[in-house]
Amino acid sequence: MDPYRLPRTVVPNRYDLRLEPDLVTHTFAGEEIVAVDVTEATAQVVLNTAELAISEVVAENDAGARIHGVAATDEEAERSTLQLDGPLTVGPWRLRLRFQGTLNDKLRGFYRSTYKDPGGATRTIAATQFEATDARRAFPCWDEPDFKAVFATTLVIDPALTAVSNTTVVEEAVRDDKKVIRFADTIRMSTYLVAFVVGELEATDPVYVGRVPLRVCCVPGKRRLAAFGHEAGVTTLRFFEEYYGVPYPADKLDLLAIPDFAAGAMENLGAITFRETALLIDETAATHGELERVADVVAHENAHMWFGDLVTMSWWNGIWLNEAFATFMEMLAVDAWKPEWHRWTSFGVSRAAAFSVDGLWSTRPIEFPVLAPRDADAMFDVLTYEKGASVLRMLEQYLGPEVFRTGVRNYLRAHAYGNADTGDLWQALGEAASAPIPTVMDGWIFRPGYPLVSARLEDGELVLTQQRFTYLSSPPPALPWRPAPARVEAATQHWQIPVQVRVEAPGGGTVHRLLLGDKEARLAMPSGFSAVLVNEGGHGFYRVRHDGALLERLLARLPDGLAPIERFNLVNDTWAAAVAGLVPLPQYLEMMTRFRGERDRNVWTSLLASLHALNRVLRPDARPHLERFTRGLVGPAVADLGWAPRPGETDLLRQVRGDLIRALGTLGNDGPTQARAAELYTAALADPRAVDPNVLPALIAALAVSGDAARYAEFVERFRGAATPQEEQRYLYALTAFRPRALVEQTLAKTINGEIRTQDAPFVARALLMSVDARELAWQFIKAQWDTMDRLYPKHGLRRMCDGTTALATPELERDVHAFFADRKIDLGGRTLEQYLEQLRIAVALREREGDALAAYLAGAR
Ligand SMILES: [Zn+2]
Repeated sequence: MDPYRLPRTVVPNRYDLRLEPDLVTHTFAGEEIVAVDVTEATAQVVLNTAELAISEVVAENDAGARIHGVAATDEEAERSTLQLDGPLTVGPWRLRLRFQGTLNDKLRGFYRSTYKDPGGATRTIAATQFEATDARRAFPCWDEPDFKAVFATTLVIDPALTAVSNTTVVEEAVRDDKKVIRFADTIRMSTYLVAFVVGELEATDPVYVGRVPLRVCCVPGKRRLAAFGHEAGVTTLRFFEEYYGVPYPADKLDLLAIPDFAAGAMENLGAITFRETALLIDETAATHGELERVADVVAHENAHMWFGDLVTMSWWNGIWLNEAFATFMEMLAVDAWKPEWHRWTSFGVSRAAAFSVDGLWSTRPIEFPVLAPRDADAMFDVLTYEKGASVLRMLEQYLGPEVFRTGVRNYLRAHAYGNADTGDLWQALGEAASAPIPTVMDGWIFRPGYPLVSARLEDGELVLTQQRFTYLSSPPPALPWRPAPARVEAATQHWQIPVQVRVEAPGGGTVHRLLLGDKEARLAMPSGFSAVLVNEGGHGFYRVRHDGALLERLLARLPDGLAPIERFNLVNDTWAAAVAGLVPLPQYLEMMTRFRGERDRNVWTSLLASLHALNRVLRPDARPHLERFTRGLVGPAVADLGWAPRPGETDLLRQVRGDLIRALGTLGNDGPTQARAAELYTAALADPRAVDPNVLPALIAALAVSGDAARYAEFVERFRGAATPQEEQRYLYALTAFRPRALVEQTLAKTINGEIRTQDAPFVARALLMSVDARELAWQFIKAQWDTMDRLYPKHGLRRMCDGTTALATPELERDVHAFFADRKIDLGGRTLEQYLEQLRIAVALREREGDALAAYLAGAR
């Protein structure tokens, strides 16, 4: 028997499901009738279960047959075999099962979450998180995405509580002191999309999108934070109905904020669950970045209602398309809703995150074969979401948005209520475009890495060539205790690259489109051209290296002769080239100084990220020089922008002001800024209107960096009593920025003593690893407490925490990290650990190669 795929001899059509959770004893009792088709006579039915006890098994059919059976459970395989007293004949049957389970605290399956009510008492709610394979923890089922069925759920709960599931309530009654809520049938869908939430929930009034009521639900006292997420839900749902040309596939939509939630959100059809920070927000007190996050996540999940829920991948190798597509659509929808946010420009930051992992030898192709579902766990990463979405955006720009949309519509219509694979989407897009898609796309999807396009001038022509971009010139040695990779792609690998080139000449700019393949491409330059930019518009998933003369012509156009995304790419690509040793580091630092007049938020994000990276590889004695360099770079912009918004300013400019003040007060360690921050912070406590919401988090960060025990105690209290999820996060992460050793130790203790939710604790530990002041202490603590963390955190928590080891950028720490992982034989899924260790190697190599030049440059810099 295939250990990962259930036999197809018994196929479910419909589940009538009845669950009775007990929020006091943390258990539930369940009963289900599953209508199945038996395709081959059998006395054995195999289905998935995990941590469930099946107490009763009966099979019945319409001819009056009734066969009893027993269940034998294999917990390791997460399967139960129903052994029946006689064979089920071919045809329709009903399986009736009774079972019992646990409301666990691991944030998966059917689990419990706690929160403090407005009166300060601890309350419990029960919620579900089934993707990828945890529906089997709530009810016995065929827990594979292509076993689609109709679900009819009934929840039996305490009369004081409320329940929400995928569909509308069709009946609600109180019987035997219990409230019985019956929900309407779902569409045919996959098990991982089933959801129920039980507790003291409050909901907003519905807003109708056509005939679909849309609400936001949360724990009591937080409904005042629902308006923005609600608006995002309504607006983007309308957008998707129009874009997809297919009606929303369920009868209602609830957006539910859950106090404990492992991921960001989950696209359960009609009942989307979120962590609170991704849905609940006070629009008047939030930063632009915090609002963008809510808009993004809501749009992303809504996009899944069609792409993922109505049409679903056949197996888990298809996760990438599911997530890449929803990420792409999230940008499109938010950009349509808030064009002034320039969402495709800020997507540059996401693309850059994918570039940094995909520039490793230990990267992976976007799509790869998946046997066991757990092989797909490591697919929930930047390569799936950010690289996948980038590559789809590049394809959309190449085909044209209209053609792309037509293909998507045809794909959804052809596969509605069913399952599909990557090839089905390529076919639909290819038909819409009248051109085969795989020839262009396969290199991006099925092979790892991405190209570096080099541009140079030769005899009046622009010459373009490509090679694979990697940070290290050759693969790092394999880890002897880890399985070897299937294969390592050679540096001679080539892609079909849709390239856009803009030539600036006296008469204006001209855009050329070409497909760069194995051979070099040549483009004649007009006489008197002033500059030429490769990757115009910035959508391509490749880096560009303009040679020295071309680069100088581009820099001469700063700030406004290049679009923000183009300036972003110029900074990001040059930084990557410096890290890879293709450009001397001082040359990059010199280039940075040309950006003092920059006002775009994303360009600054890239500039500041590189300063943080340098801070981690810097010799400690050079740190004051980096602080001075930072002040010299950022100070003029802050002086020009001031500390308060001016009339008519955009949201983005307000946000960049906050980002720059934060940089000056933290990385720049600027005394006057820290003093001013303290004054303004005090004023803001007295009157919140005294400080712009985009600036307030910068003040908190600056005060933490320079803060003492009294300030720490104050921030702990503010974290505990925060009025919004965003405020709670600000104070929580501020705790990771305090420098005194005793305070670092206090924060570390909170990551395992229950003071910080397990949904957040791994990220707090990660932030401490990333801090040059706390990293050594944090690493010692994590090594000592590894088993405790492994037991407490949701399963991807440790993986995300270990990302912080990439910041342990000294040769001694690097050796220690290797020794620890080797000694404990730690597996973070897929090639994740190899990726972290390679990133650490890159940082240490940069330190070893450029440390002296960096220190010398900074000491002499103005
Ligand atoms: Zn998603």
